[in-house]
Amino acid sequence: MSQSLFSQRLGEAMKEKDLKQVDLVKAAQDKGIKLGKSHMSQYTAGKTMPRDNILSFLAEALGVSKSWLAGEQTGRQNVNRNGGAAMRTFKKSSKLDNVLYDVRGPVVEEAARMEAQGMNILKLNIGNPAPFGFRTPDEVVYDMSRQLTDCEGYSDSKGLFAARKAIMQYAQNKDIPNVTIDDIYTGNGVSELIQMCMSALLDSGEEVLVPSPDYPLWTACVTLAGGTAVHYICDEESEWYPDIEDIKKKITPNTKAIVLINPNNPTGALYPREVLQQIVDIAREHQLMIFSDEIYDRLVFDGEEHISIASMAPDLFCVTFSGLSKSHMIAGYRIGWMVLSGNKRLGKDYIEGLNMLSNMRLCSNVPAQSIVQTALGGYQSVKSYVVPGGRIYEQREYVYKALNDIPGVSVVKPKAAFYIFPKLDAKRFNILDDEKFVLDFLKEKKILMIHGGGFNWKQPDHFRVVYLPQMPVLQKSMEELKDFLSYYRQEP
Ligand code: PLP
Repeated sequence: MSQSLFSQRLGEAMKEKDLKQVDLVKAAQDKGIKLGKSHMSQYTAGKTMPRDNILSFLAEALGVSKSWLAGEQTGRQNVNRNGGAAMRTFKKSSKLDNVLYDVRGPVVEEAARMEAQGMNILKLNIGNPAPFGFRTPDEVVYDMSRQLTDCEGYSDSKGLFAARKAIMQYAQNKDIPNVTIDDIYTGNGVSELIQMCMSALLDSGEEVLVPSPDYPLWTACVTLAGGTAVHYICDEESEWYPDIEDIKKKITPNTKAIVLINPNNPTGALYPREVLQQIVDIAREHQLMIFSDEIYDRLVFDGEEHISIASMAPDLFCVTFSGLSKSHMIAGYRIGWMVLSGNKRLGKDYIEGLNMLSNMRLCSNVPAQSIVQTALGGYQSVKSYVVPGGRIYEQREYVYKALNDIPGVSVVKPKAAFYIFPKLDAKRFNILDDEKFVLDFLKEKKILMIHGGGFNWKQPDHFRVVYLPQMPVLQKSMEELKDFLSYYRQEP
């Protein structure tokens, strides 16, 4: 028997079964077997070997063969409780080990369990406009139904000509330079294109600067592609703008690109020209690619203007993302796009990679492409939502004031999108784990929000509220939150 092989296999089997030391101690107790906590930790540390009866117990509890666990045989053989060969189980790839997407994560799963038990949960967790009564413009639905029979086949892998022409004109209106029809790719939402861009770009060890907090798909896709997401801070004290000094500090010879989310999810920040200029200067100095996620570019309040960073960087290689999920309330149709611009010669080889991946997925959803031209042209119903009297504007005004009125909560007023990212006085509420905070709130008040950690925010002191729900729902949620925070102190 090999002590170190035993402890290694013990750890492996425990991980696979998702069992902790205490679970095994308890299971032994239930069977009347004497197995103390200190024994277990000695076994896992490789300090001692168990007696034969304990080894048999551990092997049975972990569903592995005793001789394998003891380090005696090389081939792994799982066994079931009756001693026969067990069913093979399938594990997820270790590539997913560091991937996080809590917008639909464990707290949301708990909410689903509560709903299954018949409870009514108020959901302030996801930026999906349709369930909150935001309707797709009639013309868009009509035009899609008219074209449906023409959309039965695959399109060109980058998308229909008419859709891409409309996106090209949109890019021209935003002063994005050097864009031809070939530089435009449609996707099944921006989500698909983010994944495609990172997969085509990154080799292991290469770094991408990603904001913190971020929309977590960016970090997830960098990680999944084998790269390293290096988070730069967005500074709450400065309207959540990117901290330029922090960006400079985090650049290394391995840094390949910088990601901007502007307007920002989860903070609702909108970056002014001066901030964008500083980022362009850094990208120029360090020869970085710029990826700018601008899916909320039409959801801007207070008469502010959204500026595409690509319009300020004609000499750099930029990729700008947008789509119809948010501005046209058709998140479910799945249509987004990306536009390559600026000095594309720098990315000649990369573009070959993008084309390869684009061809491999054949094309994006063709019926959804068919309404891009309709959606981007003519009357823009979204404009009526973001001015005084409009639903999103008024809901922002309400939620901003209501949150600031809660003792121990402070928040920066969002200038765009439909998210707000309040700060909790972590000391006052003794918050050490922000996920536990939202879980406690969910269980007690049946209201679902996402903790700051879900957006790669490192301190346990923020949470995100989606203020799309109708005013009565928002009012109830804010009243309940105020009540909850009047007595909540997190238990360690
Ligand atoms: N980018 C950001 C910043 C988002 O907030 C979202 C969705 O919430 C997406 C991209 C995904 O958009 P799509 O529906 O186009 O995939």
